[in-house]
Amino acid sequence: KELLLEVDDLHVSFPTKRGEVQAVRGVSFSLYKGETLAIVGESGCGKSVTAQSLMRLVSTPPKSGSIRYKGEELTTKTEKQMQKLRGLEMGMIFQDPMTSLNPVITVGEQIREGLLRHQKMSKDEATKEAIEMLRLVGIADPDKRMKQYPHQFSGGMRQRLMIAMALVCKPDILIADEPTTALDVTIQAQIIELFQEIQRKTGVAIIIITHDLGVVAQIADRICVMYAGKIAETGTSYEVFKEHRHPYTEGILKSVPRMDGNRDVPLIPVPGTPPNLMNPPVGCPFYMRCDYAMKVCKEVAPPRTDCNESHYVHCWLQDERAPSIKQLHS
Ligand code: SF4
Ligand code: MG
Repeated sequence: KELLLEVDDLHVSFPTKRGEVQAVRGVSFSLYKGETLAIVGESGCGKSVTAQSLMRLVSTPPKSGSIRYKGEELTTKTEKQMQKLRGLEMGMIFQDPMTSLNPVITVGEQIREGLLRHQKMSKDEATKEAIEMLRLVGIADPDKRMKQYPHQFSGGMRQRLMIAMALVCKPDILIADEPTTALDVTIQAQIIELFQEIQRKTGVAIIIITHDLGVVAQIADRICVMYAGKIAETGTSYEVFKEHRHPYTEGILKSVPRMDGNRDVPLIPVPGTPPNLMNPPVGCPFYMRCDYAMKVCKEVAPPRTDCNESHYVHCWLQDERAPSIKQLHS
């Protein structure tokens, strides 16, 4: 397995009118060539900020921690260096394609743009590549479609255009932030299948950010479960779905009746609300909502416990030093 990306103890904060939000608080994970990693969690858990930080699309640079891409540190790169990397090494797509598509430029020109910017290519060559790319993402009649504008495409087709734009320079990593959330269930399924097909054909590694466990079950090799700016649990898909150890993971999975069939299950299951990240708790961020919370949970953040090479969890229940269970809420 070739290691592509290594994120270590990443902290990202950003200012708001009401104060500084500590959106990402010590996140670590790695990504290997050709795999699909899902980052899941409720809205506001820091999953999107984490993804955007990888390409340095957040208004403020990471506070601390490191992001290494093929061994190269990204957190200290200049904006100019990052611009080269974006598209060429990592492509990103968002929930709403219209935020990235220009309504007054033909889709052909938009798809070609990355090629002309990043690669020394003639217009004709770029056009050929763009048509190939449209074919790859399943857009019929690509020669004709090249000359059309985004409004002439349906929602699902626009998402395919986004994927084409993100992949046209053949990046090693595709980052997809809630790529199917705005689509209806049938189209969602088609887009997920497209990801899998593209991965088979190109070997691109995919980081998918989602709150939809159905999507995750279908596509992820490995999963990071995030809560309140931290990773609660990381494991292979099997480990997270079948052998999870974190009470939050247990909570979100319990809420989903049929993991494979019902794809339209939002992830808002655990009673209570996440903590305010302007003033995050010092201990385990989940203790307010956790049925198993102990005194130590409130006072000290749980360290990482490794269950095996691929599976680890941040929960005092898994720590050998944890006192025998004295529940806080009972
Ligand atoms: Fe619950 Fe404590 Fe584990 Fe946090 S550390 S998830 S509060 S048991
Ligand atoms: Mg988001």
